[in-house]
Amino acid sequence: MPVTDTEVILRIRGLKVSFQTERGRIDVLDDISLNLRKGRVLSLVGESGSGKSVLGISIMRLLPSNASSSGEILYGGKNLLDLNERSMREIRGKEIAWIPQNPDTMLNPTLKIGDQIGEILIERYGYKRKEAWKTSVEILRKLGLNPPERIARSYPHQLSGGMKQRALLAIGIAGKPKVLLVDEPTKGLDSIMKEKALKALREIKNMRDSPAILLITHDLEFAEKLADVIAVMYCGQIVEITKAEYFFRSPLHPYSKLLLDALPSRGLIPIPGRHPNITDPPIGCRFHPRCPYSHSQEKCLDEPPMIPVGENEVKCWLYDDIRNSSDNAY
Ligand code: SF4
Repeated sequence: MPVTDTEVILRIRGLKVSFQTERGRIDVLDDISLNLRKGRVLSLVGESGSGKSVLGISIMRLLPSNASSSGEILYGGKNLLDLNERSMREIRGKEIAWIPQNPDTMLNPTLKIGDQIGEILIERYGYKRKEAWKTSVEILRKLGLNPPERIARSYPHQLSGGMKQRALLAIGIAGKPKVLLVDEPTKGLDSIMKEKALKALREIKNMRDSPAILLITHDLEFAEKLADVIAVMYCGQIVEITKAEYFFRSPLHPYSKLLLDALPSRGLIPIPGRHPNITDPPIGCRFHPRCPYSHSQEKCLDEPPMIPVGENEVKCWLYDDIRNSSDNAY
């Protein structure tokens, strides 16, 4: 089924985020537009410092007080950026759940895992305590936390990093959110734990009424196993949005190609140069100082727009002619 056939749950349009610092204003996200669709995984990939996590935090409206945002994050007919904190609290963790990079920041160290899941079931769906405990054990079992009864009785400090990550996923989905934001779920995990995290996320993706999932990761091999759509971020901008099956076969943006070439399974060829500091982005196409094609494109000193190529989009002048031609390959 084409990715575009499912309902859009969260729509981001022209999102800009800036931080006011002692050295002046820093634009961290520039003109971000994305759709998150029911039951689909959109994976946001790119090097560290590209702004991926800031996007997740922006959706949750958890930016620090020196940040300002404009544009639209449309959910349930409302622009989340217009909501006051009280209304946002009704959505945060309930309708839109956030699984951060470091599970310790979200898990309550004084409560057993089973109680942390159960609390949501009691508060949100009026479960009785015993019923909530039983359901918590079932959720843990589904996400591969074995033996689930023992995990439910454990406190966070008794679990490994990978188990805590999945326990947090269990808490995240207990409230049956419409949107699940998962930030770097493989960070610090060995290959066995990664496989378990993958299984847990696949389980969530295949649930009845599964949420729209935004998977933020620098781990392209993990994204390949889970994502329906790939969005590539570079220096605060989205530079490509492509169906996953096309992306891993024939990515569009020169940066995407280099990202894939840098994978151990594809040759481990390092990307030339360094990711620019977001405080001082290059003019024009932000990738031009590192791009192997920039010398042939005078236009590269002007910022390219997002260019539709078939049902995908790419921010690169190389595709300007394809966009304008009725005879393109897509
Ligand atoms: Fe490279 Fe130019 Fe495309 Fe940027 S616009 S990615 S510099 S070819």
